[in-house]
Amino acid sequence: MSDFAKVKKTHVAVIGGGIIGVCCASLLLREGFAVTIVEPDEIANGSSFGNAGCFNPSSVVPMSMPGNLSKVPGWLLDPLGPLSIRWAYLPRIAPWLLRFLKAGSRVEVEKQAAALGSLLRDSPGLYLPLVENAGARDLMRRDGHLMAYRSRLDFEADAFAWQLRARNGIEYSVLENEALWQHEPALSRDYRLGVFLPGNGHTVNPQSFVRALASAFVRDGGHVRRAQVQDFDLVDGRLVGLRTDNGFLAADRAVVAAGARSRQLALKLGDAVPLDTERGYHVVISNPESSPRQPVLDTFGKFVATPMETGLRIAGTVEFAGLDAAPDWRRARNLLKLGQRLFPGLKDSYPDSRLSLWMGFRPSMPDSLPVIGHSRRSRDVVHAFGHGHIGMAAGACTGHLVTDLIAGTTPRLSVEAFSPQRFG
Ligand SMILES: Cc1cc2nc3c(=O)[nH]c(=O)nc-3n(C[C@H](O)[C@H](O)[C@H](O)COP(=O)(O)OP(=O)(O)OC[C@H]3O[C@@H](n4cnc5c(N)ncnc54)[C@H](O)[C@@H]3O)c2cc1C
Repeated sequence: MSDFAKVKKTHVAVIGGGIIGVCCASLLLREGFAVTIVEPDEIANGSSFGNAGCFNPSSVVPMSMPGNLSKVPGWLLDPLGPLSIRWAYLPRIAPWLLRFLKAGSRVEVEKQAAALGSLLRDSPGLYLPLVENAGARDLMRRDGHLMAYRSRLDFEADAFAWQLRARNGIEYSVLENEALWQHEPALSRDYRLGVFLPGNGHTVNPQSFVRALASAFVRDGGHVRRAQVQDFDLVDGRLVGLRTDNGFLAADRAVVAAGARSRQLALKLGDAVPLDTERGYHVVISNPESSPRQPVLDTFGKFVATPMETGLRIAGTVEFAGLDAAPDWRRARNLLKLGQRLFPGLKDSYPDSRLSLWMGFRPSMPDSLPVIGHSRRSRDVVHAFGHGHIGMAAGACTGHLVTDLIAGTTPRLSVEAFSPQRFG
């Protein structure tokens, strides 16, 4: 064995086997670290399982936008509306909601959009080396994305969002009436204007996509340990290892990528981050009678319909109810009705044997920006969570930034906007 091979590699434990953890682990391994993913469940069984699968650089528009507050009562009153709150959870989520509203000023939104723009730039292209290494090209499409409006008036009401996209380098073209319907024949003629975003991509199976990357990680020498991390052992600010429900794991560095469950772990490292969850739902119709050519976002209903290998997935909505409340499956079934409005070729109802329903926990920060940066108590631990609506799109870039931080090199992009300490 050469002297070089005898040098002990720095061991990095990546906490969480969702898209973020798997991307971080894969890129750290490629950089020459010894890497273990620590995950209590199967890989990609969390939020990364059932999302709409979009790799969208165009998602630079934060969730809290000027003027949103006036729309909230209408959204809450509409049973098919995009937003719901379990009232028992209101006292818990109230501080988060206040921060969310504060984040929605024009000045803040411009800053958030610029930070998201840098994180999401060429999202599909950044994935390519990982996807090719995993032999998973068949799971990835670069067909663009369509945002559908019912009228030009509705489109014009979104002018600020389109200015943000244009200012952040997002290309798009506006299609109206016949041109739109020719572009997307499945679309209802009630939608008269569409915006096509050619730079966006998607996966036809988010779970298989993440698992393919994870299999390549193991094939290339990475490890996966079935355990739930409970605490960090630090000595004089240096990481010694992780305490888990399956014993102690010695580690020189760690990455916290536990999605919506990262808050408690961050707290143990001195970072009180306002992470909560925006629960979302999906319904998949197998062998749909009608399906779009590319993912379509209904700008009114705020849901996405993505053609997947398992059928047509209609995914979206935001529900504030925390991590413990049971799913409200009516919200997933409502997506079916909304999907039928978008694509009238679909049926009014389906037997349960043709449907699958899912609920997942978006790990959401009130300013729509993820948390990427060193922990307060130890520079050996790097946070990588809070990606909200953009975790699939931001996975590869987050993995690169985390690798830079763990390696101690200057991150390729400024991570200041994502600082874990930005809330004080
Ligand atoms: C309906 C819906 C549609 C969406 N559509 C899109 C989309 O089109 N495009 C997009 O970019 N994003 C989308 N998202 C968001 C995206 O799914 C998330 O941002 C992303 O999956 C978050 O990934 P993650 O790895 O941080 O979390 P997760 O996938 O939830 O993974 C976290 C993992 O950490 C593990 N874990 C938790 N606690 C511990 C612990 N103590 N120790 C060890 N492991 C632990 C969990 O078991 C889990 O496997 C959507 C989300 C929803 C709900």
